[in-house]
Parts: sequence; structure tokens; C-alpha cells
Amino acid sequence: MIGQQRRTGAIAPFVHHRLCIKWKSTAAKASPSPKPSKKYTTTILLPKTSYPQRIRDGSARMEADQHVRLTSRMDELYAWQRDAHRSKPEFILHDGPPYANGNVHVGHAVNKILKDITNRYKILKGYRVDYRPGWDCHGLPIELKALEKLGVQQDTTDKIRKAARSIVDECSVRQRNSFASWGVCANWKNDVYFTADKKYEAKQIELFWRLYDADLIYRELKPVYWSPSSQTSLAEAELEYNEKHESTAAFVAVPIVKKSDYLKVMSMIAGVDMNMEWLAVIWTTTPWTLPANQAIAFNPELSYAMVIANFLGEECAFLLAEQLIEKFQQETGLTVRKGPVFSGNDLATMTYQQPVDPTIECPFVPSGHVVLGKGSGLVHIAPVHGHDDYLVGKKHKLDLSTCLVDVNGKFTEDAGDILAGKNALTDGNAIVLDFLNTNGSLLKQETIVHSYPYDWRTKKPVILRASEQWFIDVEKIRPKALETLQKVEFLPPNGRQIMMNQLESRPYWCISRQRSWGVPIPVFYTVDGRPLINEQSASHISALIGQNGSDVWWEETDEMLLPGHIRKTMQAEEGHPVRRGTDIMDIWLEAGTSWAAALGEEKVADLYLEGHDQYSAWFQTSLITSVALRNIAPFKKVFVHGFALDENGRKMSKSLGNVVEPTSITDQHGVDILRWWVAQYGTGSTNITIGHKIIESVKENLLKIRNTIRFVLGNLSDYQADSRKFPIDEPLLLVDQYMLLLVKEFVQKVDSLYTKMEYNKVAMEISSFVNSETSSFYLTSIKDRMYCEPQDSLQRRSAQFVLSELLNAVSLSAGPIVPHMVEESFQHANPSSEMFSFFQKQWREPEVTTWQKNLKENFGALLEIRDEVNKACASQNMLQLELNLRVENAQLSGFLEDLGRSEHAAVGCSQLVDLFGVSQLKLQKARPDARDENQKVAQSSSEVSLNSKKIPYSFWLQRCDDGQCERCRKYNVKTNGRDICERCLDVIGNDWSK
Ligand SMILES: [Zn+2]
Repeated sequence: MIGQQRRTGAIAPFVHHRLCIKWKSTAAKASPSPKPSKKYTTTILLPKTSYPQRIRDGSARMEADQHVRLTSRMDELYAWQRDAHRSKPEFILHDGPPYANGNVHVGHAVNKILKDITNRYKILKGYRVDYRPGWDCHGLPIELKALEKLGVQQDTTDKIRKAARSIVDECSVRQRNSFASWGVCANWKNDVYFTADKKYEAKQIELFWRLYDADLIYRELKPVYWSPSSQTSLAEAELEYNEKHESTAAFVAVPIVKKSDYLKVMSMIAGVDMNMEWLAVIWTTTPWTLPANQAIAFNPELSYAMVIANFLGEECAFLLAEQLIEKFQQETGLTVRKGPVFSGNDLATMTYQQPVDPTIECPFVPSGHVVLGKGSGLVHIAPVHGHDDYLVGKKHKLDLSTCLVDVNGKFTEDAGDILAGKNALTDGNAIVLDFLNTNGSLLKQETIVHSYPYDWRTKKPVILRASEQWFIDVEKIRPKALETLQKVEFLPPNGRQIMMNQLESRPYWCISRQRSWGVPIPVFYTVDGRPLINEQSASHISALIGQNGSDVWWEETDEMLLPGHIRKTMQAEEGHPVRRGTDIMDIWLEAGTSWAAALGEEKVADLYLEGHDQYSAWFQTSLITSVALRNIAPFKKVFVHGFALDENGRKMSKSLGNVVEPTSITDQHGVDILRWWVAQYGTGSTNITIGHKIIESVKENLLKIRNTIRFVLGNLSDYQADSRKFPIDEPLLLVDQYMLLLVKEFVQKVDSLYTKMEYNKVAMEISSFVNSETSSFYLTSIKDRMYCEPQDSLQRRSAQFVLSELLNAVSLSAGPIVPHMVEESFQHANPSSEMFSFFQKQWREPEVTTWQKNLKENFGALLEIRDEVNKACASQNMLQLELNLRVENAQLSGFLEDLGRSEHAAVGCSQLVDLFGVSQLKLQKARPDARDENQKVAQSSSEVSLNSKKIPYSFWLQRCDDGQCERCRKYNVKTNGRDICERCLDVIGNDWSK
């Protein structure tokens, strides 16, 4: 699981990868106590800030978020950057429209927040972000909801459409409010798109015509997925596969009528009785399609065999693939004797008797799609009920126009008296099996459990059924679409292959639906069903819809929709009636053309960012239409995220009671918790887990960052950025130089992670930098000088300069993920700023100019020694100790001397002392003597690496002999009768001390 490895950087030891130094949390031990005796309180510069340490959960949290949103004018940021970044490069994130149906769920949160993190980062990087959120408004789910609302099963089109529109309006407003409340930066009031907008609909009509005109749209009778429960065709994306569907599988024997001469001769040689009945064996899981059987397909590459068996008391010859004889015996229980073997090609001239209508004689036809798997190697072909069957039927000129199953999934009258009106999947299927059993064709039947397509809305099984529909000719577009994908960047990178596989296996795309809630297919039909459309009619209808919306198609008169002068331009005979079509367009075609209808045809999006279900849906329909209409992919980069699961990795469902609503997080803990969770868990894995424990750990992470920001803000309360020119005119203290270097490296690392969209790693990097480098190392080592040195001293100002750079760096890094927290801190840090939002700033790294030579290497070695010293004194209070240190290397000891130099005449107030958190520190030239053994705490010798050399060092620790300073709490008061140390005396003057 991502994000859980390093939750508690400040507690657990952690390896610093860049420097390979171990940072340790020494905050508790090393820090000089911030509580001086009351007498000196007013002389100490304690942190001051109104930035609250924590905000209570619940209503206080919600109010705080609301307050930040208003005061930082979050609603205006999008419009501001459109204007202010006018001359900057554009970054286009094209929004995949969510369905305007129902309330928001965590899936929406993952999607919208990942987009917003991306956009906010881009704004900080100076891009002019183009992000127009949209909604997918038409389609069956909303239509079914409308019917539910109307309380009926079917109604007039205008009533359904009216009810559907009100659902869309209501849901999109609710969703929009949620998205905006998550801090998603967009112009929510004035710059969003709806697929049910008049202009969007008008564009659909125009695009339909252009595709038709380019010969990429055609109408044909073809088997399509058909939902009897919704009485409409369905696209692949509208299917759900039920893994536990039960079907009846049957081995059926059909009498062979015309035998080939070669087979007759072969059989005679093999001693087969020529009076014996010859039967071809077929296997099917859809016996209800047998009335529509028109051929049996064989594979010319396979070898087939005749086998003799006793069936129902008679010797018969069965025909099947040679390699499946063994299986056939096991399945049917028949004992067979093998007869002659021959090639598939020998079947080409033969015929058989239709399984349910003995008066019809049907052919054997060759087809490469026949493989050895289940069954007999002979495949029953019902051209109107299967994709492969259809292709075989087309090739061999079989009847493709007769379908014996109607829109309700029931047999038509043409299927005969017994079957007419019967449901094909249930009682119709049983009647067919009964018939086969009675006439002795059924060799075996059994119930099998397998994966079967269901209607995604009604959860009822669908069938493949030929009907007259409109199609997009994917075949023509596919090669170019596959080619353009090579230039698209995918995250994760295997996305390209997944998408190519899906595209390659897509058969054809049915784009017409027999429903009410959608954009009409703008075609008229003659009485005999010939479609009528031309440029004039399409542009007339497009203009009408652009002005009035698509309702006109159902509400206006024929003359209005197809005026006489346009009708004259069509091949419709004068005086002959024409009718307008009743089909609507597939919503995946509508949404898939948003690159043209919402974004603009002249633009190509820099990024599409959606869940992995869109490989086969929106990504694909967008690609197909963009390639069809302008020969390029609509996106330069595709980022794919996973789906939210509960803490135990289970799918969320109402029945399991494990659904996590986004409001349950935002209303209780605040929006940033939701956003940090998305960043930490929503990238880098297909399963995005959420639950109580995870949210608690996210809260803990954020609280640590908040407290660090608070500490920094408090120490910057008296700082004016431009009062002294660090680090140009004045050098920073060495510790500050080093920290600034770390800050710079941190910003660079985070920047590169953002570029790669690895937001989980960004979150981890921020947490670890805040807990380790910042909190455990730097803040601890500057506390003494921040509190106790003179206000305008170099020691304080140098640290403050670095603190302000640090605050900026952490705000830049965390801002895209947790804008509320960062805006709040920005307001506290800059109460009189002219900028209303932190995001009006630009991304930058700290300027690093001159440095002490070997700074990084020296600090590397020093911190290694610090770890050893900490280890040696385990549970001791470091502040009571004096450290004696000896290093046998000129470079390192010179560096330690620089660090150990005091601004004051006295000891106990150098950067080195504060780094170790002791009260006194002496750099020794010689090995330690056996000093006062009673005072000794620890002693050790070891080696430290510096520039790949091993440098020996040794140290001993002893208790301080001196008294404790009442002001800085260090044990370094050397003069009897004084209550503060020399340094503190130096700072506050003689008047104060006794
Ligand atoms: Zn002191």
C-alpha cells in the first residue's frame, strides 16, 4: 500500500537518500527549553502567530474551509490566471464529463482533485491553464430515472425529455457545488459545458454529417448487443459481464443431406455401411439461435473425422474434428469407432438439414474463426445473432435481413406458431431444446456457468440481435488511430498497449439508440426505409437545434424540419411522404466528440485524465472521432487512475455498508484531508483504498505539516524580507547555508515529481522533508538563537531568511495538494499583501550563490558524528552535558572550528553547540585524558567518511560543572551568584541580572 511506509518520519529513523546520513529525532532531547524563568520571559523572543495550531473537527473545520475559500477568492483564481497569464504558454486539461446523475462519490473526488492538483501546479509554473469542466447529460440511465420519476414504464418523448432535463439540471448543480467546495479551480459559474447545451447539440449534428459525408458512417442491418429489458441497442461500454450467468449448452446432431464423393469413397474403403445416417455435430450455448441457423462453418486447416457410434439404438456416423473425438466421447458418453479422416476442405460441397426446419437444406462453409476448443470443430452459424456469424454470412451471401427475435427479445410470428411470442432466452430456449430432444438430435445438454453480457442499467441479460442501425466504420479509422497512439504519452506507460488492444478488438461501433433522451440522428427516411440526408438538410437541422435545442426534432412540423426547398435537393420523389427518424445518438459519440464541441477543433489537449474504465470508453471514442475528422489524436498525454476501494481492498457497495461518502470526510475533517488522501493514495496504483485508519494517518501527516508551518510563521513575525540582503550582501550562517541548500534540493525534487505526475511521491517527500530535515534537524538547531539572541542580530536574521525560503518552498510544494492550508498560512504571513491568493505567486527555487567550500561533505560527516553522540548518551538530557570532540582531519576540524565560533565572548552559544543540543562543547587537539571519571557519561572512538576517506574521531561526554542559566536554560553559568550565562548577559545587559 502506498503512503504508509513513511508516515512518521519524525519518530522512526529514516535514511536520507541523497546524502546517506541518518537523521534522528533529537527534538525532545536537544532542544533548549523554551520556558525560561518568569523573570526573563519578556527578554525572550518566543514565536508569535495567530495561525491556529489545530482546528476542531466538525462545524469549526467546515467554517474554516469556507472562510479560506472566500478570503482567498478561490472562485476567482481561474479567471485571474486566464487574464494574468495571457502571454504565457497554455496548458489544456480537457475534462471528461461525469454523468449528470446522482450525488458525488469518492470516485469523483479522486478524478476532480487529481485534475486540480495538476492545474494548480501548472498555474504556479506560470502556465495559462485551460480547464472547462463538463457534464454528460443524455442517455439511458437518466431516461430510466425520468421514467421512474414519472412513475411509468413508457411515456411520450416530450414528457420523458422534460423530466430527464430537470434531473440533469438538479444533479449538475449539486455536483458543481461539491466540486467547487473541494477547492477545484475553475470558472464554475460561467465557463462549463453540458452535452445537452444547444450549441453542443448543434455541433453533434454537424459532426454526424461530416462523418457521413466522409463515408465513415453507414446504416446496416447487423447483429448488435440488444437489451430486451431496455428495448435498445447497447455499446460495449454499456455492458456488464455477469460471471455467474447460467446457460444451457447442447451437442446437436444434424443430418447431412449431400455428401461429397470423396468422403463416400473413403467411407467405403473404411468399411462404413453406406446406409448408415450421417450426422454433423455442432455445439451451442444459445440453442434459441438454432431456428436462425443458416450454415455450419468448418476450418479448412483442420482435419475432420467420421466416427461410428450407437445412438438411440442405431449405428450412426458422426462428423467432427479429429482432435476432439476423445473429448466428444467424454462429454456425450458415447463409445465411438474411428472411421476415415479427411481435410476440412472436403466438406465444402456438402449440405445438411436445418436443425429445427427439416425442409431447409443449408451449406457447409469455410471460416478461419473456427478453432479447437469447446464443441466439435463445426460451428453453427446464425448470421443475425453473432459478430463472426454475420461476417461469415456476409461472405457467403446468406440471408442477413431476417431476424426471428423482436425488440422485446421474443420470437416473431415468422418463427412459427409454437415459438411466436415466446421469450428467446427462457421459454423459447426450452421449446427449442424439447424439439431437438423429441426428434432425436440432442446428443447432450447441460447447464454451464459462464461470463455473459448484461445491460449495465437494468442488470438483465442482453442478446446479440440483428437490427438496422447506424455504425461508424472503425475498420477504416483503426490503422491511423493506432499509429497516432504511438506519439501519445501514457501514465502509467502500459496504458498505450491496453488502449491499442482494446482498439484492435473493437468490431464496429453502433451509434444509434432507440430511446428518447438524446440528440436525434438527423436523418429522414422514405416509405421504403431509404435514409435521406445531405449537407443542406444537416446544416438546416443543426442551425435549428443551435437556436432552440434538440427538442425541435420531436416538437416541430415536418415542413419546419425539412422545408420544401431542401427536400427538393434530396432524392425523394415529389409527393411521396418521408418520415423523420426516431433514433438518438450513442452518448459515447456525444461525449467522445467533446474535443470538438467543448474544447474547440483547433485545439489538442495536453492531458486527458480519467479512470481506467475509460480505456474502452471515452479515451477511445474521443480518439476514433478525432482521427476520423482531423487525422490526429485529441490528447498529447493520457493519465489513468484507479478506483476507490475500502480499507480491506473490497469494492464499495451499499449492501456491504462500506461506502465512504466524500462529505463524511470533508464535513468532519476538512477538504484538505480528502485532497491529501487523493494525492497520497490516488496515484501509482489501480486500487485506491479509503477508510477510517487511512484518514487518521492522513490527518496525522497534515497536522505535522501544519505545526511546522505554525512554528515557522511564529518565528517570522518580526521579519521583513527586504531589510537585509541575504545571501548576497551578507553571508548566512553555515547551518543556514546548508539548510538553504537542502530546501533548494527539496524544491527541485518535488518539481520533478510533479512533472511526472507522481503525486503520491510528492506527498511523501513533503512529509519526510517537513519531519526530518526541517523539524528534527533545522528547527531544533536554531531555537536557541531565535529565542535568545538579539532581535536584529545576524544569527536571527540569517535563520529568518532561510525560514522564509523554507515556508515558501513548503507552500509551493504542498499548495497544489492542500490549497486551504497554504492559503491560510499565506494570509497569516502576509496580512497586507496585494495578492489575494498564494497561487498568484510563481514557482521558484531558493537562490543559492556563494557557499563555504565542501559544505555538503562536511555536514555529511558532522551529522554522522552527531548520530553516534546521540546513540552514546541514549536517555540522557543532552542539555546537562559537555561534549569534547576530537577529529583527526584538517578539513573537518577547520569546519568544526568555524561552526563552533561564538559571536559572544563566552562559550555555549555556537551553531555547533546547538547542533548537538548540549550546553558546552570543546574541540580538543589531543586524545581525551582520564578526567574526572565521576562526571564522565560516555566515551567513544570511531571513523567517519569524508570525501571517500575514513577519518578517525573520538569524543567524550561529561556532566557540566556550571550552573543553569535562568534565561536560555543552558548549563553554562560560570560566575557564582549569577542566574544567567555570559551570553545572555551580553544580550540583555547588566541591568537585568543580579
Ligand atoms: Zn543563557
